Amino acid sequence: VIIAGNFKSFKSRKGTAEYLKELNSLVSDSSQEVIVFPPATALDNYDGKVNVGIQNGYPAENGAFTGEITLDQIREFDIDTILLGHSERREILGESNELVKEKFDFYKDHNFNTLLCIGETLELRERGFDEVKSFLLSQLEGIDLSYEKLVIAYEPIWAIGTGVTPTNDQIEETLKVISEVSKKPVLYGGSVKLNNIEEILALDSCSGVLVGGASLDSDTFGEMVKTADRLS
Ligand code: PEP
Repeated sequence: VIIAGNFKSFKSRKGTAEYLKELNSLVSDSSQEVIVFPPATALDNYDGKVNVGIQNGYPAENGAFTGEITLDQIREFDIDTILLGHSERREILGESNELVKEKFDFYKDHNFNTLLCIGETLELRERGFDEVKSFLLSQLEGIDLSYEKLVIAYEPIWAIGTGVTPTNDQIEETLKVISEVSKKPVLYGGSVKLNNIEEILALDSCSGVLVGGASLDSDTFGEMVKTADRLS
């Protein structure tokens, strides 16, 4: 399964290097696909089992896009995995579905592994599952759902960084809907911790997890990977 960690804007370059050294030694024999997304300033050519991806990228090879990171800078570190449409980018930075799609198309054209995040607000969840369903499908509109290197992460916004998780039935019901439109792996993300990863990974439609807060400690994240190893 896929065990991915999103550092967001935590950790320095030095801290990331130390973390990867520790995590790589903890998971070197793992049969899981382990990915971490450090801040862009911490990218480097890291060796080891853990795949390092980038949290965001502008859809251009290079150009006049002040403050953005484009393909040329990403390639310098042999990065071939990108996180797209994280809810913090959608909510805080105002990324629209159209921009997310533009990024997806660009990085797909350059053969990247794309981890695309979708997820609803609490307000929407409270309006019932039909609303949730059509909202999630609208976030996938125009996305090539058969792209070989696509992974979808379902991350309900109300579960991110809150310690609140949907019930296992809610997660399964939602992942199943996504699996009906795409045969690609679907991950769950939102307050996944060492104490709930096992039950989440056991869900039929779950191909892995995207972890924020709990991925910041290499021992904890390493244990999460080992939990997945024990289950497989
Ligand atoms: C995330 O940011 O993708 C996430 C799931 O965060 P957390 O695990 O902290 O809820």
